[in-house]
Amino acid sequence: MSTFSYTINKDGIAILTFDLPGGTINKLTTPVMEELERLLDELGANKEIKALVFRSDKANSFIVGADIAEIRGIMGSDAGEQLARKGQSVLNKLEALPFPTVAAIHGPCMGGGLELALACTYRIISNDQKTALALPEVKLGIIPGFGGTQRLPRLAGLSNALDMILTGKSVFAQKARKSGLADEVTYKETLQERAVAMAKKAIGRPRPASPRAKRPLFTMLLESNPLTREIIFRSARNNVLRETRGNYPAPLAALESVRYGMAHGGEAGYAHEAKLLGSLAPTEMSKNLISLFYLNEMLKKDTHSSSHAFRDAGVVGAGVMGGGIAQLFSEKGIVVRMKDINTKAVATGLKEAWEIFRKRRNKGILTAIQARDGFDRITGTTDYSGFQKADIAVEAVVEDMDIKKAVLRDFEAVAKNGAIFASNTSSLSITELASVSQHPANVAGMHFFNPVEKMPLVEVIRGRKTSAETIAAVASLARKLGKLPVMVNDGPGFLVNRILMPYLNEASRMLEQGETIDDIDNALLSFGMPMGAFILLDEIGIDVAHKVADILEQGLGDRIKPSPLLGALYKEGYWGRKNSRGFYRYEGRNRKEPDRSLYAKIPGSTGIKGKIGPEEITERPLLLMIKEALLCLEENIIDSPDLLDGALMFGIGFPPFRGGLLKYADKLGAKTIVDKLLRYAKKYGERFNPPEPLLEMARTGRGFYDRTSTSATKRKAA
Ligand code: NAD
Repeated sequence: MSTFSYTINKDGIAILTFDLPGGTINKLTTPVMEELERLLDELGANKEIKALVFRSDKANSFIVGADIAEIRGIMGSDAGEQLARKGQSVLNKLEALPFPTVAAIHGPCMGGGLELALACTYRIISNDQKTALALPEVKLGIIPGFGGTQRLPRLAGLSNALDMILTGKSVFAQKARKSGLADEVTYKETLQERAVAMAKKAIGRPRPASPRAKRPLFTMLLESNPLTREIIFRSARNNVLRETRGNYPAPLAALESVRYGMAHGGEAGYAHEAKLLGSLAPTEMSKNLISLFYLNEMLKKDTHSSSHAFRDAGVVGAGVMGGGIAQLFSEKGIVVRMKDINTKAVATGLKEAWEIFRKRRNKGILTAIQARDGFDRITGTTDYSGFQKADIAVEAVVEDMDIKKAVLRDFEAVAKNGAIFASNTSSLSITELASVSQHPANVAGMHFFNPVEKMPLVEVIRGRKTSAETIAAVASLARKLGKLPVMVNDGPGFLVNRILMPYLNEASRMLEQGETIDDIDNALLSFGMPMGAFILLDEIGIDVAHKVADILEQGLGDRIKPSPLLGALYKEGYWGRKNSRGFYRYEGRNRKEPDRSLYAKIPGSTGIKGKIGPEEITERPLLLMIKEALLCLEENIIDSPDLLDGALMFGIGFPPFRGGLLKYADKLGAKTIVDKLLRYAKKYGERFNPPEPLLEMARTGRGFYDRTSTSATKRKAA
C-alpha cells in the first residue's frame, strides 16, 4: 500500500497527498522517506508539472515528525548521523525541485514534518487550534536533524528560529505568520483551494527572498551582521544555561549547529547538524526523555471509553484553582457555572480565568474571538442556581473536610441524575467525603495541579465506593481537557503531594537549621527541579501547604511531621504569592528576591551562609521522596514505577532528563540509598530510617523497576 499519491490539474499543479496507511497521523519513517525520495525523482522529471502542493489526507494531522521508535533504536553515533544525512538528502531533493512547492498545513506540523515544510517554497496554514508548528527535538534530548537548524534561521530570522529550536515550543497561526513561517493563514475549509491558488501564482516566479519574518529594525540589523550576531548567540547561550543549569546538552548543541551553519553555510552546515544529532541520539538522557514521551502518549489514550458527555459543569470555589479550572473547562467548550460565597470572591475567580484567556490570546494560542467566546461560557453565582444542569461539579473550596462535605450535600440537593461530584482536594480522603453522599459511586477526586493551565497532570482518585464508570468518565474528561490522567487510590495526599510533602518539609527544616533560602533553592534548581522548594511553597500557598502537611501527619504519622516554621509563618499571615507575603518578596504579581526579614524569625539563622553544601541540601529532600515513593508502591496507591515517575514529572516537573524519581533512584542503587539514609538518620532522626522493603532491595540488589512490572508490561500481559 503506498503512502503518497498525486494528481495533476489542468494548470499543471501536482497535488501530492501524504496518507500513511493504518492510523490518524503521518510520520516520516525510513520506508516513508525512501518512498518520498523515489517519488520526488519522478515528479522532478515530469515536464507537465509547473508547481506542487504538498498536503496531508489525515483529518487533523499534517506530519508529527520522524519516527520516534527509530530514534529510540539508535545505539551509536554513526547510526544517528546516517539517519539525519538520509533525511537531509530527501528534503534537499524536495527543495531543489524545478518548480515552486507549497506545503498546505492543518494539524500538528512537528519536527521532521516542519523540516519538510521548510524545504518547500511556501507554506500556507490553517488558523485552527490544532495547527501547531514546532521543532520539539530538544525535548527528546536531540536536535532537528533534517536541516531544521539550517533552514529555519534563514526563513524566520535568527532570534525567531532560536526561540523555537532551543525551547521546542509550538508556534500557532498568528505568530507563524509574523515570523515568516507561514506565508498565508486561512481556514481549514479553504486550505487546499488557497494552496492551489498560491502554487498557481508562484509559477515562473523566483523563490522569494528570506528571511520572511516581520522583524523590528534593530533585530534585523543585529542579525544581518556576523559580529553583532554573536551578541544574539551569546545571550541565547546564557539563557539556555540559566534555564537548564547546564543539565541539558541538546539546546547547546542546537545553538552550535545554527551558529556553524550560519558561519559555514550549505553542505558544511548540514553535515555538522547530522554529526551533532548522531552524538546526542544514543545518550541515556535522550532515551529517558523518549520514555517520558511514550508515557505521555500512553496516558493520552482512552483505554476505557466512557459514554458520559460533559457539556455543562459547575465549579465550586472561585479561588486560584477554581478560576483556573473554570477557564480550562470553558476553553474546551464546556459551559461553566462558578460559585463562591460572595460576589467579590466570584469576581476574583472570573478575573483569574480572564487573565489566563488573555495570556493565551497574547501568545497566539487562542484568537481574540476564541478567548472571548471561552470566557463568555463562564457565569458566576453565589448560590447553586444553574447547577441542576451540570454533568459534573468540581469543588475547589478551602481544604476543610466539613466545608467540602457541606458543598457535596448542597450540590446533591440540586444535581441531576447521574451527575458526578469531583473534588480537587490536595489531601483529604475521597472515601470520607463520599460518606455523606447519596451517590458515593459518583464521587471521585480530580486533582489538578497549580497552575492549572500549565501542569499536565490530573490525579484521578478512586474512593472506596467510586464506580469504575465514574473513574473512566473523569479520566476521559481530563483527556478532553488536554490533561494526562493518572489513576491513584485514596490515601492521605494521594500520590504526588504525599511524595512532595517530605521534600518541602525537609527544605523548611534545613532553613530552620541555618541554611539560606537562596542556597537551598539554588541547589534544588541545579539538580534540575523546575522551581526551588520555597518558590514552590509560595506558589502552592503556605496556608495550603501547612494544612496539607497537617493532614498528612495525621494520616501517615511522625515522619511527615510538618516543620514548625511552616505553621509559624502561616499563623503570621505568610500565605505566599496569593497575598504577596512569603519566602520571597513580591511587587504586585512579580516575585523578587528572598525575604531576608524571615531570617530574624529563625533562631540560629544568620541568613548569610549555611553549614552544609549543595550535595546534602539536594540529597536530604530527595532521599525522603524516594522513601515515600516506595511506601506508595507498597500500599498500592499507584500501580507501577513508571506511572509514579510520570506523575511526578507531569505534576511537579521532576526533572525529565533524570527519567523520573525511581529511575534516578535505580541509578543510585538501593544500597547507596540505604547507606545515605542511615547516615542522615543518625544525624537528623528517624524520618530518615530506611523502610524494610528498601533494606530488602539493598540486600538483593534489586531496583524499583525490577521489583514491580511497569504499566506498559502490565498492559501487554493483560
Ligand atoms: P483559595 O483559597 O484560593 O480558594 C478557595 C475558595 O473557596 C475561596 O474563594 C473561598 O471563598 C471559596 N469557598 C470557601 N467556602 C466555600 C463554599 N462553601 N462555597 C463556595 N466557595 C467557597 O484555595 P485554592 O488554592 O484555590 O485551593 C482550593 C482547593 O484546591 C483546596 O482543596 C486545595 O487543597 C486544592 N488545591 C490547591 C492547589 C494549590 O496549589 N493552591 C493545588 C491543587 C489543589
